[in-house]
Amino acid sequence: MPCVGAAVARHGTASNKYECEERRGMRRLWAPWRITYILTADKTEGCFLCEKPQERKDEENLILLRGEHNFVILNSFPYNPGHLMIAPYRHVGEVEALSVEEATEHFLLLRKVLRAMKQAFNPDGFNIGLNLGRAAGAGVEDHIHTHVVPRWSGDTNFMPVLADVKVIPEALADTYKKLKKALDEII
Ligand SMILES: [Zn+2]
Repeated sequence: MPCVGAAVARHGTASNKYECEERRGMRRLWAPWRITYILTADKTEGCFLCEKPQERKDEENLILLRGEHNFVILNSFPYNPGHLMIAPYRHVGEVEALSVEEATEHFLLLRKVLRAMKQAFNPDGFNIGLNLGRAAGAGVEDHIHTHVVPRWSGDTNFMPVLADVKVIPEALADTYKKLKKALDEII
């Protein structure tokens, strides 16, 4: 991300890019287990965002919540504990292709997820967004999904604690239980 605005005025040049990003809260998270995902992303056939909801094994598949048009699923290769995705059941690759009902519920689920996340984990902030198209970093580029990544002050230092791949499945199951409980209470 280019260093712009007040940050440029403070630091002078883009050579201070990293420091600028630090100041703007864009510190990168270290998530080494994601290499498994990166190496297999192009080889996986089918669309897991279509397949998982059809399997009816929600806990195993880390599906936290089902709406009428969208569902909420924990990311198996998280950038941070609690990293989840909201996706329509329908296989659509563009936000403009969503119906009003799908788009409305998508955002209402985001609202609900944020409430639950605050209740369960009390994060200091969130990164929320859609990667549209491979050039923008989309792993599944033809089935839109909104990423919600909770952030804690200093979490770049915290994450190496979870870097052991054996810890990840346990951490995911634990996160699932806590978030599910919070979501159930909000209903
Ligand atoms: Zn799909």
